[in-house]
Amino acid sequence: MSLVRKDGYDFAFNPKGCETCEGNCCIGESGNIWVNKQEIENLKNHLNISLEELSKSYIEKRGYRYSIKERKLAEDNFACIFFDLEKKQCGIYEARPTQCRTFPFWDYFKKNKEEVIKECPAIKEF
Ligand code: SF4
Repeated sequence: MSLVRKDGYDFAFNPKGCETCEGNCCIGESGNIWVNKQEIENLKNHLNISLEELSKSYIEKRGYRYSIKERKLAEDNFACIFFDLEKKQCGIYEARPTQCRTFPFWDYFKKNKEEVIKECPAIKEF
């Protein structure tokens, strides 16, 4: 796979970098993994479970939005509930939400490039 670039970002993403990464974008400090109505529907279908089951085990309300739950691994270290800790990869890859699909091209990283460089071995600086 070739280098992924996006207008407005002075870094690129090399998908091959994921092979050597232990899931830094799915593990770390606690954060929000937002899912919208359509993504909740996709998740429900992907997992073949009811909305009640999904709400009980995998997502939670944060303010007026919904986030995928996290699992606490250690003090200040959390993993997305869907991250497969043995295989070191997303357990719902085809149904992952937009937030995960668009990483590392988040507005936040336009001004905080150092943070994503530290976290993600797949980033290539121009
Ligand atoms: S849904 Fe998948 S890609 Fe997104 S944070 Fe969870 S494990 Fe990572």
